[in-house]
Amino acid sequence: MNVNSLPKIELHCHLDGSIRPLSVIEIAKKDGIELSTYDLDKIKEKMIAPINCKDLSEYLTRFSLPGLVMQSKENLIRVTSELMEDAAKENVKYIEIRFAPQLHTQKGLTIEEVISSVITGMKIGEKKFQIYGNIILCCMRNFDVEKAFEVVEKGKEFLGRGVVGIDLCANENRGFCEAFQEPIKLAKEYGYRITIHAGETGIGENVRDAVKLLGAERIGHGVFIKDCPEAYDIVKKQGITLEMCPTSNIQTKAVKKFSEHPVYGFLKDGIKVTLNTDNRTVSNTNLEKEISLVSKEFHITYEEYRTIYYNSVKASFASETLKKNLMKFMK
Ligand SMILES: [Zn+2]
Repeated sequence: MNVNSLPKIELHCHLDGSIRPLSVIEIAKKDGIELSTYDLDKIKEKMIAPINCKDLSEYLTRFSLPGLVMQSKENLIRVTSELMEDAAKENVKYIEIRFAPQLHTQKGLTIEEVISSVITGMKIGEKKFQIYGNIILCCMRNFDVEKAFEVVEKGKEFLGRGVVGIDLCANENRGFCEAFQEPIKLAKEYGYRITIHAGETGIGENVRDAVKLLGAERIGHGVFIKDCPEAYDIVKKQGITLEMCPTSNIQTKAVKKFSEHPVYGFLKDGIKVTLNTDNRTVSNTNLEKEISLVSKEFHITYEEYRTIYYNSVKASFASETLKKNLMKFMK
């Protein structure tokens, strides 16, 4: 299987985790942002999490540099269109980009300005690079619930104009879903589609809660349904799609080694799995690498890849017209 030429769909990609290291340096120089080094290799070290990271918390430390340079309209537009370019280069036909608007208001941008800048960058990318995109807004679950309401309310006007979904992300505690029921319910009423990071770091029960309490249609990661029969059954019976990110799962110690990753077992059992990068820079990866890793480890066939591709299109938050067009890329 020639992975390079395969059409690809990405549903789980964080903007701040996917910024080019060189762009961090160029933006810092342009804006007079002080960095401890301007050496590309050293910057990469600060942005790329090692494969033997301690845990998710250590992995999340790699987001501090991106945060410094993503505080203006111009820079948000730039890094978003660059991400579209990077994805298009590896034959990604459609990408859902996610980010937490509140992390980009440190220098005075409003939440609305942050969102509209990312949309602008995405549209530029669509025009220039033959790729389609949509946006998922992340609520940080380590912030209080009021902040989640703020994202839901302020993002509302962008629904149908680039924004399609809402997500909860950051470190995962047991039972986190309960506190966020109200804002996610409101989001659903407004027309946001729902995907939730859950079951990433050992707690399969969070996947059950994300579906039952929050109405999640998709789950970010979901690795640990493997240890929670109840969550596994719900995901399987309700056709919930898992956005799986193999390299990221190794780095955060969710899975010890690729051969132990549950993605192929899930696929064989009819669970709707998709393959994603999570963070192109922090995980030092791209979608081609993720597909190759899984393909080599489990010897997946072209037909199995086609299933993954179709899973991704069907579970995407794209319009029905766009989905039909995306289906046509895969023979
Ligand atoms: Zn993620």
